[in-house]
Amino acid sequence: MSTAVREALRRMSVPAEPSGVVVGGEWSRGRGTLESVVSPINGSLLGEFHAATPPDVDQATEAAATAFLQWRCVPAPQRGEFVRQFGERLRQYKEDLATVVSWEAGKITTEALGEVQEMIDICDFAVGLSRQLYGKTIASERPGHRLSEYWHPLGPVGVISAFNFPVAVWAWNAAIAWVCGDPVVWKPSDKTPLTALACQALVVQTLERCPDVPAAVSNVVVGGVDVGQSLAASARLPLVSATGSVAMGRAVARTVAARLGRSLLELGGNNGMIVTPSADIDLAVRSITFAAVGTCGQRCTTLRRLIVHESIADALRGRLLDVYCRLPIGDPTKDGTLVGPLINEAAGDAMQHALAAARQHNGVVHGGERLQDGVPTGGVYVRPAIVEIAAHAPIIQQETFAPILYLIRYRDLDEAVRIHNDVPQGLASAILTRDVREAERFCSPSGSDCGIVNVNIGTSGAEIGGAFGGEKQTGGGRESGSDSWKAYMRRVTSTVNYSDELPLAQGIRFDV
Ligand code: NAD
Repeated sequence: MSTAVREALRRMSVPAEPSGVVVGGEWSRGRGTLESVVSPINGSLLGEFHAATPPDVDQATEAAATAFLQWRCVPAPQRGEFVRQFGERLRQYKEDLATVVSWEAGKITTEALGEVQEMIDICDFAVGLSRQLYGKTIASERPGHRLSEYWHPLGPVGVISAFNFPVAVWAWNAAIAWVCGDPVVWKPSDKTPLTALACQALVVQTLERCPDVPAAVSNVVVGGVDVGQSLAASARLPLVSATGSVAMGRAVARTVAARLGRSLLELGGNNGMIVTPSADIDLAVRSITFAAVGTCGQRCTTLRRLIVHESIADALRGRLLDVYCRLPIGDPTKDGTLVGPLINEAAGDAMQHALAAARQHNGVVHGGERLQDGVPTGGVYVRPAIVEIAAHAPIIQQETFAPILYLIRYRDLDEAVRIHNDVPQGLASAILTRDVREAERFCSPSGSDCGIVNVNIGTSGAEIGGAFGGEKQTGGGRESGSDSWKAYMRRVTSTVNYSDELPLAQGIRFDV
């Protein structure tokens, strides 16, 4: 294990022999197989853990269900105080947690720090929210009656998360769930369990300062698909929030729906950007590059399809290729690196398969090769690719989780919007233009069909204040800011009769 990771974990009080199951403050070995965690930076062994099994999941959900009985009655602002204290621990250990994120997920340092900052931001948001879980008073049609809606805690929430945002996505869910009165049972990606255990260690530190909080408000079960399926199947979890591929979302949604539970799905994207003739080209080059190659193309919001007006396509391609061939690629923990490794060999293979498929459909591929020189051995490092391709090529319909940017030419805005929307996913979108009519058209009902619609910025790098999520195969869920909290509570509609009469609604007479 890298000394930096070992020291960071020690400072955060993660037990030296990390466990696969943590129920509140109780760390234990999972009853499953021994699994290894390797770093995408150089293939080094970061740790081992015994995976959780269905009985371990059962134990964690039972503890969460018991904790719920107490937590739901704690006033929301006091629940917010717990989240505030957790946010303080995150501030204190921001660099340490970011170090583990870098080593486990392969993110460059500034992006890893940004991910932890996002956790801090959502804690701050949730603390404010804890005093704003507003209901409504509605005019009743009946005299002497008060009609209102209010929100109650829902129950324990299962969180299944992906490797590429190993801590922020959990925090979006956990901070909001906690102020809403819901305990959380988290199954992180089996590629990134150490970051999850580090988060739980910071929760345990917070619990020590908050003796009245039931410890099982936070629980972690580490493992693979079977553990995720056990969570999805658990009738103790009225809500399962799942982030990952479309295939995973389909499987989780089926299982949760079979028991008539609720699922909140944040699935794959295939994000497009339209660049119009009036776009600011310098701004375009910067926003496209960050959106397409940041996190080595492994963000759900990564820019994958660049739809460029034919009059500027050659010039823009030239500017981008110039930047692409100078990109600093390599060890993500080193200053100056902008592109780190892919997560594993399978991701490298998927990238090469996609490029081969593009070539078969007459795509012109620039870059995309595997790098061996000047990068750490044992990791999968690639030069990000730009592929000039026709709009009808089948490969552009799918999300390949790697830095491939398909460049497609268009003639008029109607065609551009049609190409843009003609994919099964609907997460993030953008238009670069200085023409207000084009910008507004893209934001209008006849424009982008995505959950995130940007003007003159890229597709990635959302703030926590807005609701995050996408349409179509992206799953329709919304997390993080705005009124996403409503997914974590149950709505109560209440009519109180303070009169001595019993008038019925709709003028119905029922005299007995
Ligand atoms: P993945 O689907 O392989 O795994 C995600 C999580 O689901 C993991 O914890 C995994 O163990 C679990 N899982 C997988 N199959 C399951 C099943 N059948 N039942 C229950 N659990 C299952 O995804 P990944 O490779 O970790 O992450 C990349 C994918 O996640 C991309 O498609 C990306 O777009 C998506 N993603 C989406 C968002 C979003 O907010 N929309 C955010 C991050 C990542």
